[in-house]
Amino acid sequence: MLKSLDDPMVLAGGQSLVPLMKLRLVSPANVVDLGKIPGLSYIRKEKDHLSIGSMTTHNEVASSPLVNARCRTLSETAGRIGDQQVRNRGTIGGTICHADPAGDTPAAVLALDAELRVAGPQKRRAIKAKDFFQDMFTTSRREGEILVEVRVPVLPPRSGGTYLKLGRGASDLATVGVAAAVTLDRAGAYKDVRLGLAGVGSTPIRATKAEEALKGQKPSDALLAEAGEKASEMSNPSSDIRGSAEYKREMVKVYVRRAISQCLVRIPKGIG
Ligand SMILES: Cc1cc2nc3c(=O)[nH]c(=O)nc-3n(C[C@H](O)[C@H](O)[C@H](O)COP(=O)(O)OP(=O)(O)OC[C@H]3O[C@@H](n4cnc5c(N)ncnc54)[C@H](O)[C@@H]3O)c2cc1C
Repeated sequence: MLKSLDDPMVLAGGQSLVPLMKLRLVSPANVVDLGKIPGLSYIRKEKDHLSIGSMTTHNEVASSPLVNARCRTLSETAGRIGDQQVRNRGTIGGTICHADPAGDTPAAVLALDAELRVAGPQKRRAIKAKDFFQDMFTTSRREGEILVEVRVPVLPPRSGGTYLKLGRGASDLATVGVAAAVTLDRAGAYKDVRLGLAGVGSTPIRATKAEEALKGQKPSDALLAEAGEKASEMSNPSSDIRGSAEYKREMVKVYVRRAISQCLVRIPKGIG
């Protein structure tokens, strides 16, 4: 769980920090409101990626035509977080830094190979999402560093993306979440497959063995089943109020199959 801090903490949307403070799980001596700092809320298309300011809300990401057109995995992920009130206040930077293993966005930025730009007292640096999530609620940010920008590569042509989530209602973390992006080559075989799992380990998990099983192959039901099995093998869920470990492992199989199928359906026909 989070360490109890007397150090200052930054506040973004407050959707995780304020409940933790109310429960006395954290007691920062000072809280620095990032909302007072201008210029941290934006969505921009750069050459080959989207740049998203850390204070951009889940709702802004979910409803952005740009994100929806260029990286549907991320817009769908944002749209599945909590309820409308949470999405209006919670931010992309806050949920990534909070690093809840059952959070939706960490799995998506991991699957998408996002780059996380942090600023510290002395310098700025970029951290790959695969190096960012270290353990439950623990990231590789150093003391004094804040996340300022999330850079997400845009999906290439012949790509489809989705985020599928099994939850316990409209406003809950993931029992199992699957962030997926699939790119086919000109011959219709899997060129690139990216799968991020939420809720089934102490960090979000990249299901690399499932991805590798598909690459270079033509889509088939047998391959979908194999990808589900391999992703499930890579998961490491615990039994908790959301379900038993066995149940979650089974659900990984089902949701990985469904997510890849959904991506395939969404790949525009007749391009390039
Ligand atoms: C009712 C409810 C339902 C929810 N449902 C879901 C859900 O379905 N899925 C899901 O993923 N989440 C869910 N959440 C959590 C929600 O998504 C939060 O928005 C998110 O976890 C934190 O974002 P925030 O902007 O509110 O951050 P805050 O609560 O302000 O901060 C969270 C943590 O990150 C740190 N932090 C914030 N911004 C930065 C930054 N830029 N740089 C460095 N550190 C930073 C803070 O110091 C704090 O430690 C839910 C929350 C509630 C209250």
